[in-house]
Formats: sequence, C-alpha cells, structure tokens
Amino acid sequence: MSHVLQRSSASLPVAVGGDGCYLVDATGKRYLDASGGAAVSCLGHGHPRIVAAIQAQVASLAYAHTGFFTNEPMERLADLLIADAPAGLDKVYFVSGGSEASEAALKLARQYFVEIGEPQRRHFIARRQSYHGNTLGALAVGGNEWRRRQFAPLLIETHHIAPCYAYRDRRDDESEEAYGRRVADELEAKILELGPETVIGFIAEPVVGATAGALTAVPGYFKRIREICDRYGVLLILDEVMCGMGRTGTLHASEQEGVAPDIMMIAKGLGGGYQPIGAMLASAKVIAAIEAGSGAFQHGHTYLGHATACAAALAVQQTIREERLLDAVRARGQDLAQALDERFGNHAHIGDIRGRGLFMGLELVEDRATKRPFDPALKLHARIKAEAMARGLMCYPMGGTIDGRQGDHVLLAPPYIITPEEIGELADKLGAAVDAAF
Ligand code: PLP
Repeated sequence: MSHVLQRSSASLPVAVGGDGCYLVDATGKRYLDASGGAAVSCLGHGHPRIVAAIQAQVASLAYAHTGFFTNEPMERLADLLIADAPAGLDKVYFVSGGSEASEAALKLARQYFVEIGEPQRRHFIARRQSYHGNTLGALAVGGNEWRRRQFAPLLIETHHIAPCYAYRDRRDDESEEAYGRRVADELEAKILELGPETVIGFIAEPVVGATAGALTAVPGYFKRIREICDRYGVLLILDEVMCGMGRTGTLHASEQEGVAPDIMMIAKGLGGGYQPIGAMLASAKVIAAIEAGSGAFQHGHTYLGHATACAAALAVQQTIREERLLDAVRARGQDLAQALDERFGNHAHIGDIRGRGLFMGLELVEDRATKRPFDPALKLHARIKAEAMARGLMCYPMGGTIDGRQGDHVLLAPPYIITPEEIGELADKLGAAVDAAF
C-alpha cells in the first residue's frame, strides 16, 4: 500500500524516465506528453543542457538563503526576464511555483496601497472562470467552485465577474467587439458597486487554462480591462503561470492582447519542470512606492530565489531564446490546430476547438447545436484521461464548471520541441481516446 497522500498514487503507473516528448513508466511503456503534465514541460524530458546546468549548480552552490546572500543564477535570470518583460515591469520575486507567485502578488498589491496611503483598498475582483492556485489566498481569487466550496469560510472575500467566453456567451446579434466591451464593462460595474476607493486589483489569466481549456478573450477585451483599471487606479494582475513563457507563441500571452500588467505571475514554463520555480514580476510604479515607504515587501519563504531552481530556469530560458523555440511554438501550433480541426472539426461531440500556439483546448458537448454539456456525473473527462493513458498519451481533461453550463474539456500543451509526426500521433491517439470514452 502506498503511503503517499497524492491522489490515487497507488493505482498510477510509476514514472521512471523521459526523453524528448515522451515519459516512460516502470514497465517500459512510453507516453506521448501532450499536456506537459499541466502545461509545465515546455522543453520535454531529459534535456541534456538543463540536466548539465542543474548538475553544475548543485556541485558549486545548491542553496543559500536569500536573506543572507544573493546568488548568480538568480541575478542572471532576473536580468533576462526583465529584459523581455512587458513594459514597466522592473523587478522579479522568485518563489517555488504558481500558487506562491499568486500569494505574493496579492500581498504586494495590498501593500502597495497601504504604502501610498490608501489602506481602505481591500477588495480583489476576479473572474468566475479562473484558477490562480490552491493555497488559501490564491484559491480565494480563483473561480473554480468545486475547489473552493468546502474552504469557503476560510477564504478572503473576492468578487467574481463573468469570464470572456464568446463560445457560450456572445449573443448572435453581437459582434466580437461589442461582446468584449459588454463583458469587460462588468468590471467597471463591479468597481462602482464596491466603491472604487476600496478596490485593490483585478486578476485574470490572459488565456484561461485549467478551468476552461485554453480559452482566449476576444480582441479588445483586455485593452478595455486595462483602461478600466487605469480609470479607477486599480492594479491589473495577470496570471501567466500556465499561458506564459512562450506557450502561446509569444513569450507572454498578454503581448498578443497589447496590454502590460502592473503585476504578473509566471511559473510552469519558467523552469519547464526541471526544478520547482515560479516568479512574480512587479512594475516600477509598485516597487517605487514600497521603496519610498517602508522599504521592503513584507513577505518571504525559505526557498526564495533557490540557486539550483534559478540555474535550471536560466538554462530553460536561454534554450528557448537560442533555439528560437517561440518560432517553433507558432509553427507547430498551426500544425496542431490543423490536426485537431481535421480530426475533430466535424465531431458530433466537440463543440469548440480553441487556443493559441501550443496551448489548445477542446470543449465537449452532448449537442453541438444547443451546446448542451454532458451530464457531469458521467465523468467524461476522467474516462478520456484513462483511455488516453491506456493508449500511451498524456492529455489534461477537466470536468465542466460554471453553473453546469460548461462542458468537459481537454487541454493540450505539448513541449515546444514536438515534431509534426508527434502531432499526428497526438491527434490519432486523442481521437481514439475521445471516441472510446462515450
Ligand atoms: N495559476 C494558474 C493560471 C495555474 O494554471 C496554476 C496551476 O495550474 C496556478 C496558478 C498554480 O500553480 P502551482 O500549481 O504551481 O501552485
């Protein structure tokens, strides 16, 4: 019997190795990693350059507490990230993953307003269709009902507005632009309802990952959101933990929306799974207020700026740049979109195929015309996952959420090094798994 608490670990295959886009279990069975776990393994598995960077770092300095020392990989990684960051972002705070990055962002945003003499600002606004992590602060701003339900009494009060979800919510008589404006204006209405002087920030994923399956906003939506935030002095906090670091074909997903946040979180593709690492990036405006006030962000964890994690992430980020992998994401992203369209475009139960770059989602529906989802009790997503694993394919299916209106979906986030042949294998295996699940 397994003594590990992680979900059903006793019944799962034992992963023992990996190379390129494949993971290998203890029986020697190979799995095409079409989801990078949960959009993590952007360089695939066993990349020799990253392995060498980690080995060299551990041999020289594995860890030194950042309350006593800085370290070279952390400094170099921060320089690299800021050189390519959205306009205005100036400082990086390294943590161990996405939830920690969200926690840091929430606290930094609150501290900013305390420092500038607006301590009455206490509200966060987020979207119903969102996930920002599983620690209490991050869970509070997230919109995933089943994750939140039993912990609700412990969560800071957050106010949720509609996501930008054109497939389900755009009216037939409405242009994409008009829809984007209508749904973004929910933010303004919520700010006015709460009182603009009480709102700290609005937090959103530029492309919604786990709770929606690569759901992109309509053009103009985020520009309007940025305008509304600016009008009321509300901070825009963008969560690029899943969609960032090249996944959508640009380094940051927000680049394609033409907006820059005040605070941004990154994680999964930062270290590509070679080490646990995440980061919060903050604007010069926010940092200047803290420097002019108390002088320090009042936060901290033992593993901030962990030297080995930073060395791994530095090697991952250098590889992405030097091997021009963003070009690869765009080219293979087109191949993937085409393969999915060919395999699922006319499928009776695939309502929507969406996403950007190597970040794609399929939404399953019982009826394409009415967009009615399957009964959640069928646990279609779990069946797809099992059928896919049986065929040697890792994908990331999730159950429907949002008032029972949204269908189950499958998220795909393969490594940036995936080949056209592997994309063919992905589409074939996924097609067979989806069909076998009904
Ligand atoms: N934010 C987003 C958008 C995520 O997708 C996730 C994880 O899936 C998180 C935050 C939390 O990251 P972690 O699981 O590394 O704590």
